[in-house]
Amino acid sequence: MAPTLAAPTVKVDRKWQLWINGKFEDGVSERQLFNPGNGKPLAKVAEAGPDQVEKAVKAARNAFDHGPWPRLTALERAQFLFKLADKIDENASELAEIETLNMGKPLRETQYDMADAANCFRYYAGLVTKPLGQTVDVPAPSVTSIVREPIGVCGQIIPWNYPLLMAAWKLAPALAAGNTCILKPSEYTPLSVIRLAEILAELELPEGVVNVVLGDGPKVGQPIAESILVDKIAFTGSVKTGKLIAAAALTNLKKVTLELGGKSPMVVFDDFNLDTAVDYALFAIYCNAGQVCSAGSRMIVHKSIHDQFIKKMIERSKKIKVGPGIEPDTEMGPLVSAQQLKRVLEYIEIGKSEGAKLEVGGDQPQGESLSGGFYVNPTIFSNVKPEMRIVQEEIFGQVVVVQKFDNEKEAIELANGTQFGLAGAVFTSDVSRAHRVVKAIKAGITWVNGYHNTYNECPWGGYKQSGWGRELGTYGLDAYTELKQININLDPQPVNWFQP
Ligand code: NAD
Repeated sequence: MAPTLAAPTVKVDRKWQLWINGKFEDGVSERQLFNPGNGKPLAKVAEAGPDQVEKAVKAARNAFDHGPWPRLTALERAQFLFKLADKIDENASELAEIETLNMGKPLRETQYDMADAANCFRYYAGLVTKPLGQTVDVPAPSVTSIVREPIGVCGQIIPWNYPLLMAAWKLAPALAAGNTCILKPSEYTPLSVIRLAEILAELELPEGVVNVVLGDGPKVGQPIAESILVDKIAFTGSVKTGKLIAAAALTNLKKVTLELGGKSPMVVFDDFNLDTAVDYALFAIYCNAGQVCSAGSRMIVHKSIHDQFIKKMIERSKKIKVGPGIEPDTEMGPLVSAQQLKRVLEYIEIGKSEGAKLEVGGDQPQGESLSGGFYVNPTIFSNVKPEMRIVQEEIFGQVVVVQKFDNEKEAIELANGTQFGLAGAVFTSDVSRAHRVVKAIKAGITWVNGYHNTYNECPWGGYKQSGWGRELGTYGLDAYTELKQININLDPQPVNWFQP
């Protein structure tokens, strides 16, 4: 775990601008951001008008069609990305503080995210210099090779829960492969991404290779997804917006990857150490106050340990230190925004009205240091039915439902019983059962006796409505390249298919 900081030291009351074609500029309007920890105004941020979005798209197009970046060698691009990773490390304390002040999550999480982001750039810097293509043994006199080439201009739209890390997941493989980018952070959490743009400018990334446009989804994100000058759109966010992106991308049939929501199950059998399972359950749901796409938001627990499991979860949930993310001893921060707070509290009311049993939480913690912030206590519902909305829908907050099962078959049915398929876990001491169950879970990311380990080296993405395609790993680089076969005829002779 990274070291913790003392008090806030960064100055966020400054200009936060768009970055288009290598220049920082004001927008056509400004958005007021609020500190989720106290609800007070935090910073004002530039927002792009339609002309600026178009300018950013054209800058990326020009940088791809005529600029140096796609024409550098893989090694030269890798060297830039290694330098960028080092700069992120050098500025990690500042970036983590900015992230915490803007997004709300505790410093121990944002410090971890910064290290992860730097390592994502390092991973793709290393990967892109390794062999990417193939040669195939076709009938003479041809020699054939299969090469990977950059796709072109990539629109990248990201959410608010891991602002800088999501930017790294998008930019690192795209830049490594030689693409150019228009990156749109969430309108709620743009600060760390703007700071990243400043670092890219300091490192003299050629103009137009990365452009950062700011503003809301319909005004700024949608035109990027629709633009016929954009070759690929990579989106992370909700299922609802993902469907709009996929539809918008039809204009020119641009390539699309979608990393969407989840309602991920954690299945606990009675042969596993109960205290350890409860410990993982807390980690699975309450990290980042539940605002994690892969959060373990459904505990599926064997009937023989169900009541004890809940009792222990309640005891541990009550001890979690909820507070401003900037306080070094805070274990769970606020939700990101007043809107997210409203959404989570509404879901808690929905759960109660559906007849679920509220075991703990469901309310907002009180206290001087929490005043005005977007806090909710860790919340557990039991006595739920599979069709309830709190079981089926992504709440994206610190609310977990506990489902009870009798046998392995039922556990698997419950685990797979939603529209989502992002992640899932099984806890058991029986290796055969672990293998059977994890294979039966329809999800892209799974764990046995663990939760949340995420590796830059492994593919990230979901089954069913959790998305299209994969990020990270070699698959993440593939998703930013086109495949081309090159057939070279070594002995051209007339074909005489038609009479001479
Ligand atoms: P969201 O869908 O509301 O917004 C995501 C981004 O899309 C934002 O930048 C937003 O401005 C933009 N957007 C909104 N409407 C748009 C439109 N019509 N056209 C183009 N862009 C538009 O999601 P959110 O509330 O920011 O984030 C939470 C969601 O993200 C959750 O569902 C979560 O599961 C998901 N998420 C998924 C992953 C993953 O890897 N699968 C990771 C993190 C978050």
